[in-house]
Amino acid sequence: MTLTTPPRVLTVAGSDSGGGAGIQADLKTMLALGVHGMSVIAAVTAQNSLGVQGYWELPTEAVRAQLDSVLGDIGAQAVKTGMLASPALVETVAGVLAGLDVPVVVDPVGVSKHGDPLLAPEAVETVKTRLLPTATVVTPNLWEVAQLTGVKVEDESRMREAAEAILSLGPAWVLIKGGHLPGEPVDLLTNGTEEHRFTAPRHDNRHTHGTGCTLASAIASHLALGEEIPEAVRKAKEYVTGAIAHGFPLGAGIGPVDHAW
Ligand code: PLP
Repeated sequence: MTLTTPPRVLTVAGSDSGGGAGIQADLKTMLALGVHGMSVIAAVTAQNSLGVQGYWELPTEAVRAQLDSVLGDIGAQAVKTGMLASPALVETVAGVLAGLDVPVVVDPVGVSKHGDPLLAPEAVETVKTRLLPTATVVTPNLWEVAQLTGVKVEDESRMREAAEAILSLGPAWVLIKGGHLPGEPVDLLTNGTEEHRFTAPRHDNRHTHGTGCTLASAIASHLALGEEIPEAVRKAKEYVTGAIAHGFPLGAGIGPVDHAW
């Protein structure tokens, strides 16, 4: 019997004790897409369907040691970053990513759907100057676009301007997630010369916890499997659309997207 090693994908992010978002969503996505998922935990949240009750950052040495352990032995064909919480953690992770030669998908996590902050306000500048230049693809929602660039997208017409503002911070590609605009959701993917728009039917399902983490992890997984960026994003969108359609109630609040349908 020949034993084959699947592509390896690393998530550097926060833990969600409720299992719906963060590291837990990332690993579920990676399992579903057939890659080997690995996790460097940057912060631990106390979290359930009602929101984030608290979070604790890991010391930078602990994050650095996890990165060294994984990358020094196993290696990764793609990396995804999520909640990095503090300027020191963003700096530490960006420093390691800058020396890697694999695709990096940055989900510039700012606040949870419940409005709980997951990034210290003073870390926004570090995300802009240190993390975004390491990104192969960055996946902001409209709230994060405003936080990073000051551009407020109220309808589709300003999406390109927002994309240009993000690209000026140094990532190779940006995927602007327009899901919060009224009407049919449209996402814009561009590298400044090529442009792709993705639409998906809006599902009447409020159980969408973990959507952003799942999308970014699915993009990283498809890149590790060898897809080009537009196709990796298209397939990742397909995956997350299915996961949202099957999101289920959990606890008294907002339930998670489903990875096992
Ligand atoms: N918790 C963690 C650890 C996260 O990384 C994220 C999002 O990236 C969230 C919670 C928020 O998830 P959502 O906005 O889908 O509820």
